Amino acid sequence: MPESIDTLIVHAHLFTMQGDGVGYIADGAVAVRDRWIVGVGSTVELQARFQPRQTIDATDCAVLPGLIDAHMHTPWAIARGVAQDVTNWMQKALAPYARHLTPEAALAGTRLNVVEALKTGTTTFGDYATPVPGWAEIFEDIGVRARLTPTINALPEGGMAGWKVGDLYPLDPEAGLKAIDKAVAFAQAWHGAADHRITVMFGPQAPDMLDREQLLLVKRLAARDGLMLHMHVAQGDREIEQMLIRYGKRTPQYLEQIGYLDDQLLAVHLTEATDDETEMIAQSGASMVLCSGSIGIIDGIVPPAHVFRQAGGRVALGSDQAAGNNCNNMFNEMKLTALFNKIKYRDPMRMPAWTVLRMATIEGARAIGLGDEIGSLEPGKQADLILVDLRALNLTPVLEAPVRNIVPNLVYAASGHEVKTVMVAGRVLVQDGKVLTVDEAAVREDAQIQAEELAKLVADDPVHTEMDLLVAMENGNL
Ligand SMILES: [Zn+2]
Repeated sequence: MPESIDTLIVHAHLFTMQGDGVGYIADGAVAVRDRWIVGVGSTVELQARFQPRQTIDATDCAVLPGLIDAHMHTPWAIARGVAQDVTNWMQKALAPYARHLTPEAALAGTRLNVVEALKTGTTTFGDYATPVPGWAEIFEDIGVRARLTPTINALPEGGMAGWKVGDLYPLDPEAGLKAIDKAVAFAQAWHGAADHRITVMFGPQAPDMLDREQLLLVKRLAARDGLMLHMHVAQGDREIEQMLIRYGKRTPQYLEQIGYLDDQLLAVHLTEATDDETEMIAQSGASMVLCSGSIGIIDGIVPPAHVFRQAGGRVALGSDQAAGNNCNNMFNEMKLTALFNKIKYRDPMRMPAWTVLRMATIEGARAIGLGDEIGSLEPGKQADLILVDLRALNLTPVLEAPVRNIVPNLVYAASGHEVKTVMVAGRVLVQDGKVLTVDEAAVREDAQIQAEELAKLVADDPVHTEMDLLVAMENGNL
């Protein structure tokens, strides 16, 4: 007697990401009941075992785990493309927008970014933002999985706008405490919400943006509630400069001294970390997020993820912020990560397609602490998966022998727009490329209106005259 299930996906080029490779099964099938995967195997075998309510025919499709974007700032989709091709992008490009970002504009940016990324196969969103009412509800309502990090810093009101590069920032402990209280309340409301689809991390923004006492307080509070810490670490010369002026130590040594390096930490970027410092952080048990597109554009650097992995560390991929990336698309991140590392090390073997695909799925899941729940297709895990249409011209031909060409084409040829179907926790959110759970046209229209309003506020603020991109504008280059 076959077992009743909700959905059976059949006839797939199935990449389970089980084991050490990509776990390929020809003519593969996945059985889903409620939110869970209950069977993975060949189509013939699973059709005999299960009686599905609905069948999804995945002929000519690659089926793989939903992609994990471990680090993003979705509100900044509202200022897509305003902070690249400059130095000091944060202070001299983004800050004037940050100063005027309203909650409505932030929410419009998040909606835009979630829809954009979902359509290109992202199912888990490691979003990092100042929490405004309605932020978490967007992930809950659209139906995606989210690991939300409310930003905690002790920067005074008004943020960084107006401060000169190289000056020590003033820290305001009262602002820090307020942000900590807000994060604790947010975690109480949202950690484990929507059947555990929404979970929370604490986000001390960077080691230079909270004093030592408050950094340690955040760590204790997170440990009490079993939460990870998601922090920008050794990002850019700005941070290292601040740390040297304030503490006389570079970031990694400072974090080691105060007991911050352990498996509770998800360290983002490590742009400025030396190889020795990178190894030390990896060996502490901390995980890393590599944002190839963003850091390439805003800093011109390839972060030391290869060294981190060699030292045994877990690495996830992140798309960071659209103000200077300029998109949130994990296919883009996989391709850039493979290319940048080959170029950095002058070695075509470095970061092969299968490795970056693992970083976007199973290794990313482990890095963000969800390795038991997502990242591979196997019974007992959540049914987060995507179907990629291999009949797209840029993915044709599909070859099985003597060499199977699907994984290299997914990484080097796909743009993400070949994603046809997206399922999160057993529910189909995207079908035939259309998002079923939100009005895409309304999301786009609202984002355009909010972005124009924000741009107007920036244009009316004298601080905008410090923006370096105005020169490119005057020279006829934008
Ligand atoms: Zn970031």
